[in-house]
Amino acid sequence: MALEFCSSTYLNGRIVPTELACLPADNHAVNFGTAAFEAFRLYPTPNGSKLLGLDLHLNRLRLSMLSLGLSPMEPEEIIKALWQTINQNNLQQGYVRLLVYPNGNCLALDPSPFPSAALVMAWRSDSSGFLPPLTLGISHIRRPSAGSTLARAKISGFYAVEAAADRNAKKQGFDGNLMLNPDGTICEMTGANIFIVKDSVLYTPILPQSIDGVTRRLVIEFANTLNIPVKEVPLPLGDLMVADEVFVTGTYHQIRPVSAVGGQVLSSPFPGPVTQLLQERFQKMLDNPEDEIASRWLTGTVLEKFTPKPVAQQAYQIRSAELTDIPGIIAGVSSLLAEIRGIPEFQLPSTATNVCQRVIEGKYPGAIFVANPQGDNHSILGLITLTVQEAIHVESSYVLIQELWVHPEHRSQNIGDNLMQAVETYSRQQGISRIEVCLPTHEFPTFYSTYHFYQKSKFHDFGPRMRKMLE
Ligand code: PMP
Repeated sequence: MALEFCSSTYLNGRIVPTELACLPADNHAVNFGTAAFEAFRLYPTPNGSKLLGLDLHLNRLRLSMLSLGLSPMEPEEIIKALWQTINQNNLQQGYVRLLVYPNGNCLALDPSPFPSAALVMAWRSDSSGFLPPLTLGISHIRRPSAGSTLARAKISGFYAVEAAADRNAKKQGFDGNLMLNPDGTICEMTGANIFIVKDSVLYTPILPQSIDGVTRRLVIEFANTLNIPVKEVPLPLGDLMVADEVFVTGTYHQIRPVSAVGGQVLSSPFPGPVTQLLQERFQKMLDNPEDEIASRWLTGTVLEKFTPKPVAQQAYQIRSAELTDIPGIIAGVSSLLAEIRGIPEFQLPSTATNVCQRVIEGKYPGAIFVANPQGDNHSILGLITLTVQEAIHVESSYVLIQELWVHPEHRSQNIGDNLMQAVETYSRQQGISRIEVCLPTHEFPTFYSTYHFYQKSKFHDFGPRMRKMLE
């Protein structure tokens, strides 16, 4: 399964370009590994994309947060963050990772005084098919004992143990490592739970140390409906070596056969008949939304509840501004400045109209383009203003975008893109190949959406500008 990292990430209440989703260097989780996390799978189904095992993931997250002492977060807030990330990336199927971290510094160890914040990353996958069989080494690093209250929590720092064990496996040419409990019985694979089949009975290790896997629970439910007996028992390593079938389960691995352990090839074929039966049941759940298990295990978006109804698409035209547009342009620029500053209203000085007029009349090098509804020359849905500058460091003229504004009710109709297109056409006609813009800094609420827009329009970072006002 090829995974492609998506370009938008949710960070503490906002969707931001993935490369800007950063935590401060002194963040508590960065320093102490105190983020509780979950990984989800998004599956395409005939009834739209669905998350698998959402409630169980959220419950496990709650327990991880509780055992760490993180401040609680409303499940609704987390669910909304997941779907915002999925929608923003237009994801139909993939892998979604959620981290809840203490939003505070590392001057003290106790994370509980800090509010919790969420980070949601997404990866697009090209298929949801089952993965090929894998080989396991036997790790000399063991899982922490059940006496540790954190043993079963999914906490980022705790995964240093898994990471080291996985590194050892790769070094020895295995796909993953078998983790043993302190008493030498089988715990799980690095990053997945483990099952064996012997004489048509399914065995899996008891939980105290291993992660209470969502997929593990699903497989036990499938087995119950298929009348395959399941036994949760302490599993000695010897039982695994003589098993009829071995497979691992997890959000990433789904149901995946194991072909060899510690270099010893297990009985073939892979997948074995019971593993295959369970895989088929899994597929049936995905293909039939009416399936009884699907209705309990697959959850669709909740965002309709939060998203305002889209405004009817309106046909519009882009044209050069005329003098009669001046009041509409002034109103649009005022709204833009109020939005950038996060204030209800912004009053432009009365002389602003003179500047507007000079640009429209061609007395100052530059241009203003407006978007009008088709057949209505007076309403302004959006505007872009630009001036032509000269600078020594550029060696010639360049276009500086001064203001770009689209009426909030008419966003997502490509008006911004088309206004930008008008600027490009104008620049080419003037023989100018360089277009620049100054962005608000990241403290302003509109920074991320503005940055994202220009990045999509193929603008590149070259450093912020600063300004000094002369007395
Ligand atoms: N054990 C460990 C150590 C894991 O990291 C995972 C993956 N989250 C699992 C088991 C399987 O859990 P799930 O089925 O919920 O992904």
